[in-house]
Amino acid sequence: MARTDGDSWDITESVGATALGVAWSRAQEQDTDCPLFTDPYAKMFVDAALERGWRLPPAHMVARIKAIGGYAASRTKWFDEFFLAAGANGIEQSVILASGLDARAWRLPWIDGSVIYEIDQPKVLAFKAEVLLAHGATPSARCVPVPIDLRDDWPTALRDAGFDASEPTAWAVEGLLPYLPASGQDLLFERIHDLSTRGSRVGVESFGAGFFDPEYLASRRQKLQQYRQEAGEEDDGNALDVQDLWFIEARTEVTDWLTDHGWEVTAIAAAELMDRYGRCAVGEADDATPRTVFVEGNKMC
Ligand code: SAM
Repeated sequence: MARTDGDSWDITESVGATALGVAWSRAQEQDTDCPLFTDPYAKMFVDAALERGWRLPPAHMVARIKAIGGYAASRTKWFDEFFLAAGANGIEQSVILASGLDARAWRLPWIDGSVIYEIDQPKVLAFKAEVLLAHGATPSARCVPVPIDLRDDWPTALRDAGFDASEPTAWAVEGLLPYLPASGQDLLFERIHDLSTRGSRVGVESFGAGFFDPEYLASRRQKLQQYRQEAGEEDDGNALDVQDLWFIEARTEVTDWLTDHGWEVTAIAAAELMDRYGRCAVGEADDATPRTVFVEGNKMC
């Protein structure tokens, strides 16, 4: 379970399975009274993974995912709006970093001429392509997969795939940062900055000091333990906890980094965003609402 330098995964393994967890959560959103978005592809991915032997997360994890369902839906909606606004402002080139099973290239109304580059590990993107092909799904803009590890030289792979750094770009960093070491996060933003011309935008789900606070993380673990007990599951010490896949290290605040590098920044805390969309956390708000901040940067020069 522990992360190592250069580790890799298939869709049902390690960090790959987190993409399935998020897809499962998006599929659940479709059954709510007022879904914040429509994603018919999420269920296709989950069903295909189940057919390949993936098992739904154990009951305690399902309870956790449900508890943060309002958060996950709000996050999806925020990034949807980020891309729609970028398109409305004439940005035709987008890069989704750690795209996982994100189906925005298929489900959003992109402006004509848009191209979306999706970067993730090779086996994750292979699974996604296979499922979409089997369903005859066609993207609503040109979508170019860039299968590579984000700790490797992805800027070269991206350029080789056709990315044009002289064009303004909309970048999305969603559900990614805890899976990168702190140094990898800094390098990621340096690379985004170097590849961004004036007028580019970046949308980030950012995990700052509040998120990695040991007491907060301990309370999350404790809550999971409670879900496990409520589900009547035995604790053999090997139960899955997504925290075990994170690099828990002090990090640069994304808002500070972007501001220091000449980006104009706006930010909204998760709790406020959920309130805006009429969603609240189930259970105790303190640990069911992740302590994240949604940050948008506009490159001014
Ligand atoms: N952004 C997607 C979404 O919100 O649906 C997926 C989020 S999922 C929690 C995390 C994703 O990050 C997985 O698809 C995983 O493969 C990808 N990922 C994490 N670390 C990565 C790395 N070093 N290189 C490439 N992909 C990575």
